[in-house]
Amino acid sequence: MSYQAFRIPNNILFGEGAFEYLGTLKGERAVIVTGGSSMKRLGFLDKAKEILEKAGMEVEIIEGVEPNPSIGTVNRGAEKMRQFKPDWIIALGGGSALDAAKIMWVFYEYPELKFEDILEINSIPTLRKKAQFVAIPSTSGTASEITAASVITDTKKHIKYPIISQEIIPDIAIVDPALPAKMPPHITANTGMDVLTHAIESYVSTGANSYTSPLAMEAIKLVFEYLPRAYKDGNDMEARYHMHNASTIAGMAFNNSFLGLVHSLAHKIGGMFGITHGLANAILLPYICKYNMKNTDRYAEIEKVLGVSDLVETLKEFNRKLDIPLNFAALEEVQREKFEEVLSKMSENAYKDPCTLTNPRPTSPEDIEKIYRYAF
Ligand code: NDP
Ligand code: MN
Repeated sequence: MSYQAFRIPNNILFGEGAFEYLGTLKGERAVIVTGGSSMKRLGFLDKAKEILEKAGMEVEIIEGVEPNPSIGTVNRGAEKMRQFKPDWIIALGGGSALDAAKIMWVFYEYPELKFEDILEINSIPTLRKKAQFVAIPSTSGTASEITAASVITDTKKHIKYPIISQEIIPDIAIVDPALPAKMPPHITANTGMDVLTHAIESYVSTGANSYTSPLAMEAIKLVFEYLPRAYKDGNDMEARYHMHNASTIAGMAFNNSFLGLVHSLAHKIGGMFGITHGLANAILLPYICKYNMKNTDRYAEIEKVLGVSDLVETLKEFNRKLDIPLNFAALEEVQREKFEEVLSKMSENAYKDPCTLTNPRPTSPEDIEKIYRYAF
């Protein structure tokens, strides 16, 4: 037997009021990294600053991380950190803000490193010589507050680079449902389907084990029960609470079991056409469930727990409930001519995505092309 690892942040605070945990941090200087405007508009940025200042820290803010953050944004943030010299980095926002802050942290600690130097898995040298890292997610989706991953985009080459290293697992995750509570319905639906995809792909992954499976199954149950409620009524705080936890729980699972073909295909079609990550996952999920089903009895276990007889149909019905289309052709950002033009290259690239390695059914670029066609 070869041994396995189970890695998560040292400290996970969850539930309403967890945000206040910021007041217990001890240090000199904290930098807050956040996105475009939502955290400011909703008052969480000012509140974080106030709590940290009350705890005796000097605070600086790095704002304006864009969705699908770029190398340029990361470099600018790292430069600011090198000047300010924080001992705490507080990443506050969606997956994009959290991901960007993680790589700013790397270049703050190691100014001599270049982006190309950290692309190989686990190639980031030991962090925490200058700062520790707190992640406060404002979407219930990517679970970047838990994971060893960050996705950064080269905007010149139009390529999304997944950067994977256990070094960038945050020290502290603050999972407070007050933050995602004001997400508009379509962001709730898309990010929530990212959670369901993480949970299902983790459960059926060839890397699943007895540490990850109970977490993945718990997240599946929570999403089925609470995502439709959070979508329908954003003020349903019980639903928001359970969805926010589901996101983190799914993160604990997939960070240690890895994912599968849904993410491989979503990364490539998402990058090519600019489709939101969770939406691309949602559309692909039923098709890949169908493709994988005969190779593993894990889907049957999910059907049993959910009390349904046909998971593929159940997933399609679930998308309908969230007003998510069943095919890519329904999205205005996707054009048929371009799809035909890029299909073969896109399928090859999806085949090479690291998420393909743990898919329960061995696959090929030809099979992936077929799946893309069905989902189109
Ligand atoms: P983003 O962080 O990209 O945010 C999407 C939009 O939602 C932004 O316009 C943002 O606005 C807004 N928003 C965020 N929080 C709220 C809120 N509470 N209320 C209202 N609006 C809000 O979305 P995701 O969280 O889905 O992150 C996606 C990114 O994460 C992608 O780059 C993807 O590739 C990456 N990813 C990372 C993974 C990882 O393991 N690290 C795994 C999978 C994907 P504003 O900017 O104004 O805050
Ligand atoms: Mn995802």
